[in-house]
Amino acid sequence: MSDTDPTTATDDTLRTPIVAVLGHVDHGKTSLLDKIRGSAVTAGESGAITQHIGATAVPLEVISEIAGDLVDPTDFDLPGLLFIDTPGHHSFSTLRSRGGALADIAILVVDVNDGFQPQTLEAIDILKRTQTPFIVAANKIDTVPGWNPNEGQPVQQTMDAQSDRVQSDLNEKLYEIIGELSDNGFSADMYWRVQNFQANIGVVPVSAETSEGIPDLLTVMMGLSQRYMKEEMEIDTSGPGVGTVLEVKDTQGFGTTLDAIIYDGTIRNDDTIVVGGLQGPIITDVRALLRPRPLEEIRTEQEFEQVEQVAAADGVKIAAPDLDDAMAGAPIRVIRDRDRSEVIAEVEAELAEIEVTTQEE
Ligand code: GDP
Repeated sequence: MSDTDPTTATDDTLRTPIVAVLGHVDHGKTSLLDKIRGSAVTAGESGAITQHIGATAVPLEVISEIAGDLVDPTDFDLPGLLFIDTPGHHSFSTLRSRGGALADIAILVVDVNDGFQPQTLEAIDILKRTQTPFIVAANKIDTVPGWNPNEGQPVQQTMDAQSDRVQSDLNEKLYEIIGELSDNGFSADMYWRVQNFQANIGVVPVSAETSEGIPDLLTVMMGLSQRYMKEEMEIDTSGPGVGTVLEVKDTQGFGTTLDAIIYDGTIRNDDTIVVGGLQGPIITDVRALLRPRPLEEIRTEQEFEQVEQVAAADGVKIAAPDLDDAMAGAPIRVIRDRDRSEVIAEVEAELAEIEVTTQEE
């Protein structure tokens, strides 16, 4: 483990905000996530790119490289953004933390040509219900007839470079989206005109095809988190880990494992954990914590490497006995020096909460 590994810190630390991507089918959620991941790999080529389980971490220095003049890294002390890899509101609703949403913040993707569609409205309802702050990515701006793409550029720059006709066509589409947000009870505007992101929804025109506006999207998400969520991001990284199961699956050589996101504290490879299962809480001992091997390492037989510990917020694969009954969306809590029965009771309470929501839906 390197000296700079944040998991070795004992003080309170600011964790990475967890970001979810929502929106109607085919509006570009997957393309947008792929683009962010791709841009992060390119921008971070000088440094090591670490792979993650179930989520993509984009560190502040990479965001600042992608965003160029838009971001002054000294304005931020949050470490970056962690994007949940499975987009859509099903995963958003399933992945919970302490009764709320696992994601701290969301991007609602809306196709500029298609506007609001049934799943856009469903996503809005869920965001409202969970009081999750969000911004709107008005996607596919490159499909406006006559658009002249400027790969990877900030959006105002590329909009200014378009013909008057194209600009007015795009603006018309963007104002329709702003109108639809308003019909749904949200005051919204182009992000560069929004002063208070708590009171107003910022709309960021983007293209997941040409990366135009991606610098803006990352900058706005970073700014929003830093400004309004810093307190919620304060965690004790040395505390016992708390997380959510993304997926229960077989991993060669390890049997049934959990892909999980840890959103508080730290999980260690010798911890005892309580996991939500179909028949109630499962109490088990961690056998191994696994991460994908770094890309630059020569491929070996083993896809994963073992790590000693993982600190929030991050994805990890947990190998332990007795996980067959574990459920996606269920809580995970480390016992460590805490009272065992108290931790079990917390997991039971969280499980009851999940059952209630499942019945409602
Ligand atoms: P999802 O269902 O919301 O995840 O949507 P996808 O990411 O699968 O995108 C649906 C289709 O739209 C795919 O064919 C993408 O290539 C295309 N697409 C997504 N974003 C853009 C964009 O910004 N510009 C263009 N021209 N096509 C896009």
